[in-house]
Amino acid sequence: MFCLAGGSLLLSACSPHEEAVEEEPYTWQPAYATLAAEGKLKDRVKQFYAIFDKCELCPRRCGINRNAGEEGFCQAPKQVMVYSHQPHFGEELPLVGNNGSGTIFFSNCNLRCVFCQNYPIAHEGWGRKISDQELAEMMLDLQQKGCHNINLVTPTHVLPNIVNAARIAFENGLNLPLCYNTSGYERAEVVKLLDGIVDIYLPDFKFMDGAEAERYNLAEAYDYPQKTKQAILEMHRQVGDIAKDERGIALSGLMIRHLVMPNRVAGTEKFVRWVADNLSKDTYVNIMAQYRVEFKAFEYEEIARAITSEEYVEAMEWAKEAGLTNLDERSLAQFELHRREID
Ligand code: SF4
Repeated sequence: MFCLAGGSLLLSACSPHEEAVEEEPYTWQPAYATLAAEGKLKDRVKQFYAIFDKCELCPRRCGINRNAGEEGFCQAPKQVMVYSHQPHFGEELPLVGNNGSGTIFFSNCNLRCVFCQNYPIAHEGWGRKISDQELAEMMLDLQQKGCHNINLVTPTHVLPNIVNAARIAFENGLNLPLCYNTSGYERAEVVKLLDGIVDIYLPDFKFMDGAEAERYNLAEAYDYPQKTKQAILEMHRQVGDIAKDERGIALSGLMIRHLVMPNRVAGTEKFVRWVADNLSKDTYVNIMAQYRVEFKAFEYEEIARAITSEEYVEAMEWAKEAGLTNLDERSLAQFELHRREID
């Protein structure tokens, strides 16, 4: 039995002793439902697949024909490749809720950092090729398992497949927010095409300085800060700040992740100021403490160690000084722990 309150769906059972709540129509629906009702979703699929003819999905702009089987920097084929799909409980609490975030890990990556924690999947392409129909079935399976969203991890290079799969899944009952979980290395022009399809944007903002982005990516990405800023501004224009239901579960909005790195490599101070000055002070920001020396990071002296408690506390203090008011709950708990560590 569903309880309805304030237009949001509560999945807990109503007690027979509770006063009957006058039913209101359930109003929330994912963005793509509106686009489909307007008859525009199929056209958007065609627009995305046309980009494969001369792939410029991301700032690498390889210009190769993926529809004809060519592969660009990301090494992704035309057919989508997936490593795994499952409910995930390690994401931000508004995504995880009670039943987990419905995570789909895509193989390959258009950025490729030297400290990648998922390098077998992102760099080496572990995973299997599936059809758009099978991808749609994965989305429906995650919904069936009770997940609160479809969390698309590293989605940029397979956007045509994702949009087509979302269309198929919607036609078969999908009714969850799509969460676009990206490295941030995006073209704003392409993000614009996602307007009305994605409900939750979850970009990283990894580097504020082009020289650092160039140094710590296998194929230099000097333009990373500039491209990521443009993309995040467009994401915020589309979905605004995070909106949640009565259970605290995210329905839509922008959530930004920033990983604190050793020796101030990530430019955290600049990052929090940029968010405060260019987005909203209420932007959901997760300042992450879990940097690990992975993959090739041990070859780079500056990032060949974990961060210190002092570095994490400094990062969180910058965020507070910048006036950010919607910091991730677990990051605030980490802040307290690290602060006690150095007191
Ligand atoms: S998605 Fe891949 S092939 Fe397309 S432009 Fe980016 S790196 Fe190149």
